Amino acid sequence: MSVIIVGGGMAGTTLALAISVLTQGSIAVDLVEAHRQDEHRNLGCDARVIALSQGTCQQLIRIGVWSALSDCATAITHVHVSDRGHFGFVDFDAQDFKIAALGQVVELYAAGQRLFRLLEQAGSVTLHCPARVVDVVRSVDQVEVILDNSKRISGQLLVAADGSHSALGQACNIQWQKSDYHQIAIIANITTSEDPGGRAFERFTRNGPLAILPISQRRCSLVWCHVRAQQEQLDVLDDQSFMNALQRAFGWRLGRILKTGKRHSYPVSLLTANRHVSHRVALVGNAAQTLHPIAGQGFNLGLRDVISLAEILSDAGCHDEDLGGYQLLHRYEQRRKQDQKATIAMTDGLIRLFANCDCSLVGVRNLGLLAMSSLPGMRNALARRALGWVDR
Ligand SMILES: Cc1cc2nc3c(=O)[nH]c(=O)nc-3n(C[C@H](O)[C@H](O)[C@H](O)COP(=O)(O)OP(=O)(O)OC[C@H]3O[C@@H](n4cnc5c(N)ncnc54)[C@H](O)[C@@H]3O)c2cc1C
Repeated sequence: MSVIIVGGGMAGTTLALAISVLTQGSIAVDLVEAHRQDEHRNLGCDARVIALSQGTCQQLIRIGVWSALSDCATAITHVHVSDRGHFGFVDFDAQDFKIAALGQVVELYAAGQRLFRLLEQAGSVTLHCPARVVDVVRSVDQVEVILDNSKRISGQLLVAADGSHSALGQACNIQWQKSDYHQIAIIANITTSEDPGGRAFERFTRNGPLAILPISQRRCSLVWCHVRAQQEQLDVLDDQSFMNALQRAFGWRLGRILKTGKRHSYPVSLLTANRHVSHRVALVGNAAQTLHPIAGQGFNLGLRDVISLAEILSDAGCHDEDLGGYQLLHRYEQRRKQDQKATIAMTDGLIRLFANCDCSLVGVRNLGLLAMSSLPGMRNALARRALGWVDR
């Protein structure tokens, strides 16, 4: 029994490890990744950090991965959400939910290196890296991939974990619906005069939403969205002018902004696949859906795909079921629908509401923030999804 995973990003690596742990190595996994880990630093991944929800961390503990990541993680104990120049704000504190941390922030490059080390130790996983899948041949009872080094690998199921606009998905006639926010996300690591001390911030500004997350060495990671038309203007700003603009938009909650690292920018849009399965193929992570980064839900949702698929495969393995059979793929697609729909709706709704400068909507969102700070039921419903406490 074997599964081929294409893509060694966060989704592909955690899926390989989840299958290995949940099936105690009884399902063989071939993982194909185009880039060596040291190349990822050059691809711009060094500056990107992601926030893992409390629910995600619990699942990573369950599949034996968290202990390897914890030394490159920073806990979030408090989140402050506000709207620049308006009255609404809401606070979330770990103590309110009787947990030590609302989530953890990990640096992607460091996490990737640690996950690859775990894969090298997993007896049931064969790594093909660097190697790129160039063709896929599907027959009735198996799937075969052809690598750019001419090697052929076959298995019962092919998992496309090859990221946004998945080429494998396209080769299997899957299509994506794109909702363009006409925004770019600028990311940079910054140093402020005050220690963030576990505090994270989400602030809605005139240019677009910004998020500040605590990371190692008392620094913060910034994601700041702007309308795409401003890209050229932003690219020519020197560091001091960029920090001045950020200080005006963010305010003084962390004191003075003292330093900024190299800035990277990403186009942001919402991509949703019309189907998440095809004959002997399943999509996970960004290949299945790519979300706006500001709400920090992309990988958290992707990991719920990963864990659900690993559980279904583990169960199928125990019952000698075909790992790429129609029934199994249908179960996976059905099981993921509701969570995917709800998480996408929440992220998309937030972006559209907070990207809008229309006076009536500004009023509505401030009333919303005010209501959330005073109505525990409403606040908790949003928090539960952000914490990853959702059914899969
Ligand atoms: C600025 C920013 C901030 C974010 N913040 C958060 C956050 O706070 N919380 C959160 O949960 N999410 C966040 N996200 C989203 C998160 O980063 C992604 O959801 C996650 O990293 C995607 O992982 P993936 O493995 O699905 O895809 P990818 O990381 O894109 O990995 C795909 C891999 O497949 C490989 N590949 C592609 N084609 C082939 C092929 N033919 N053969 C072999 N290999 C191939 C690629 O080399 C790549 O390594 C953020 C995203 C951005 C842009």
